[in-house]
Amino acid sequence: MSKKIIIVGGVAGGASAAARLRRLDETSEIIVFERGGYISFANCGLPYYVGDVIKEREALLLQTPEAMKEKFNIDVRIHSEVISINRDKQEVMVQVEGRTYQESYDELILATGSSPLKPAIEGIDSKGIHVLWNIDDVDTIRTLVDQEKPKSAAVIGGGFIGLEMAENLHARDIQVSIVEAQDQVMAPIDKEMANLLHENIDMNGVNLYLNNGVQSFSNVDNQVQITLQDGQRLLVDLVILSIGVRPNSNLAKECGLEINQRSGIVVDKTLRTSDPHIWAVGDVIEVDHFITKEKTMIPLAGPANKQGRMVADNIYGANKEYKGSMGTSVAKVFDLTVAATGLNEKTLKAQGLEKNKDYYAFIISQKSHAGYYPLATPMFLKLLFNAQKEILGAQIVGQDNVDKRIDTIATTISNGGNIDTLQELELAYAPPYSSAKDPVNMLGFVAENILSGKVKFTSYNELEGKIILDVTEESERLIFAIDNSKHIPLGQLRNRLGELNEYKDQEIVIYCAIGVRSYNAARILMGHGFSKVSVLEGGSSFYKSMMHKPTIHTNQDIPSNPCGCDTKDIQILDCCGLQCPGPIMKVNDVLKAMNPGEVLRVSATDMGFARDVENWCARTGNTFISKERDGKQNIVTIQKGSNQPNKQETLTSLPQGKTIIVFDGDMDKAMASFIIANGAAAMGRPVTMFFTFWGLNILRKKEKVKVKKTFIETMFGKMMPRGVDQLKLSNMNMMGMGSKMMKMVMKQKNVASLDQLIEDAKRNGVKLVACTMSMDVMGIKEEELIDGVELAGVASYLADAENSNVNLFI
Ligand code: FAD
Repeated sequence: MSKKIIIVGGVAGGASAAARLRRLDETSEIIVFERGGYISFANCGLPYYVGDVIKEREALLLQTPEAMKEKFNIDVRIHSEVISINRDKQEVMVQVEGRTYQESYDELILATGSSPLKPAIEGIDSKGIHVLWNIDDVDTIRTLVDQEKPKSAAVIGGGFIGLEMAENLHARDIQVSIVEAQDQVMAPIDKEMANLLHENIDMNGVNLYLNNGVQSFSNVDNQVQITLQDGQRLLVDLVILSIGVRPNSNLAKECGLEINQRSGIVVDKTLRTSDPHIWAVGDVIEVDHFITKEKTMIPLAGPANKQGRMVADNIYGANKEYKGSMGTSVAKVFDLTVAATGLNEKTLKAQGLEKNKDYYAFIISQKSHAGYYPLATPMFLKLLFNAQKEILGAQIVGQDNVDKRIDTIATTISNGGNIDTLQELELAYAPPYSSAKDPVNMLGFVAENILSGKVKFTSYNELEGKIILDVTEESERLIFAIDNSKHIPLGQLRNRLGELNEYKDQEIVIYCAIGVRSYNAARILMGHGFSKVSVLEGGSSFYKSMMHKPTIHTNQDIPSNPCGCDTKDIQILDCCGLQCPGPIMKVNDVLKAMNPGEVLRVSATDMGFARDVENWCARTGNTFISKERDGKQNIVTIQKGSNQPNKQETLTSLPQGKTIIVFDGDMDKAMASFIIANGAAAMGRPVTMFFTFWGLNILRKKEKVKVKKTFIETMFGKMMPRGVDQLKLSNMNMMGMGSKMMKMVMKQKNVASLDQLIEDAKRNGVKLVACTMSMDVMGIKEEELIDGVELAGVASYLADAENSNVNLFI
């Protein structure tokens, strides 16, 4: 039956409803009233037009009134505000250019959205303060940025629109400060996950004022002065207010429709209001929370668009039910993507629920795709679930492929799946895209391990009073170690368990870089009767981000020439694509050839490099000058030598050498020895590698060398591998297949070959010593060894060991 349908609001929900209504029925009369000058525009794209990422203004305008008329025969009336509704007469009053008129309806859809909050702060109407909500706003802000070229801006509010604006203003070379009254940005995620964003915002040179609301605004000359609640003052050229939204529900309220306490229009499951002929969609309505089933308001574009479509169906009798929203969202924040779905831990706690009783929560670190395929980046995933295995919510922060993971979890929740489903999901896999066990599967595995008591996690802020055990390798520990942690690399743990016996009844928290080795270590300890063992959540990489202390940046902070020297003297080093410890080693190499005082600018994509380089400089006596972000690259400036002689003295006055006894001749063990040796050498430490027994085979030349040997020596020589190409893997060698595969993977992953590592070691000044006693026993002659190897006995090794603070046996 033909109907006359009026829609108030012509953007997300309204435009979606209008188009669907027409597709369902050719005969209806459809009128859309929009008080602004544009319909169906891309509000979500507005920040990117300011940042010039979206270059054409037209790209934001998805439909025009003329096109809606031509394509859909819909009567769109812009600059037309509906100012009242007469429910008895089924009429709306419309105001256009100072005059009013009435229009009747059979069915009315309210898609009036929400408006940005403008709280009653002193001076809020000062010149230079803007909101970004519609096309008029974006035109004003973009023109201002293009023409007046502001040097500084403050974004008030660290929600997703505020952060997107901060990023886009920063992209226009404006020094940006974000002011947020809460102790974190991005309210839908928990504080520790937001800390990852805080670190990245800071690394991009944007100031972050947390826990600090605005007390007042005022104009000083042509600028805006912002006085913060703690008394600090900021003077900026431009302010963007992004504090939150309120629903545009006045129309509904005034005509007596049911409204909730937050001014949201109350609708039933079919999205019909308390009036049978009025429907409502989008930001303006109250919805059921999909997980808690409680009433809530979730102002997002996805729900608004889908509700618009559903209401059109229901007007034509479909009787579809809206199942609720769970706040699935994603945003780009500088180099990171942040995404969430469902409930966060703050909400659960606010409801009086207790962790490890009423709900469980954990954070893991995973790679965006297979770690061995180039350019895999880390992501942190947090999952909340309960003892009934229900998924309560998830949050993800990372550089790549975050969106598909959150969508997979949201889909699982929507379809009634639980943590078992996460484990079972068969997800597409190839190395450039994922891992055979996708991060989403991993969430399921870990959740099950928690419920079955196989693993327990400890958060970064719960370490006090606990024994901290570091199971990383020595080379990693040189770059970072948690204070007062005990150190036993995972590979040595079973043999050195005795060292931990005295802590058997104490709480032991184990950590490694991301949590995999620490989980294995935890299982070893549990298997040997240690009962209070847990794993540091997110590993040391997450811990380091949590400890990050933001700084305040100014426009002058990072001059293009930080040391003031002639730019032609600045050496440039590109380490993009190299993974840890590759960039550090390359830096070390290059610095060696430079003179004290000279400056090196390094670009690297590895985030770990950016985080560790300061520490590395401090430990190696070089001067860290600055660190900045350029797209996915970290640009680090280092000056050779220290400007803090005293600090350097203290560091170097202690024994700093490292000695490694290489007893085994397996390929993987040889690799590990050389990686550690090179890592330590890169830190400027004297390193001695003492090759004995089977380890001597690593140093053998690949080609056959004619030397005089006894029969037994010749037999021995034939049975043992000659040089690095013939070494086997200690495990999974599979008649040489395993070592071939390993070499292939190393190549793809940019890990240097053993040949290369040996060359690096020689170049880095690592002392390679062949044990003369073992050579004698095994019948290996000096001529058979590669160049650059010293021959010495155990006394020589012991002398070096005395000057070392680390001695490894491999
Ligand atoms: P809107 O799309 O806001 O449309 C409401 C329209 O109603 C407005 O044009 C208004 O002028 C009109 N109106 C109001 N009252 C009247 C009246 N009385 N008479 C006539 N017309 C009236 N969401 C996401 O999910 N992802 C994002 O990345 C994202 N980014 C965003 C970025 C920005 C800058 C903004 C502003 C919003 C963003 N959102 C995002 C939110 C998303 O745009 C909204 O949730 C969505 O548009 C809500 O749809 P709606 O139909 O309820 O309201």
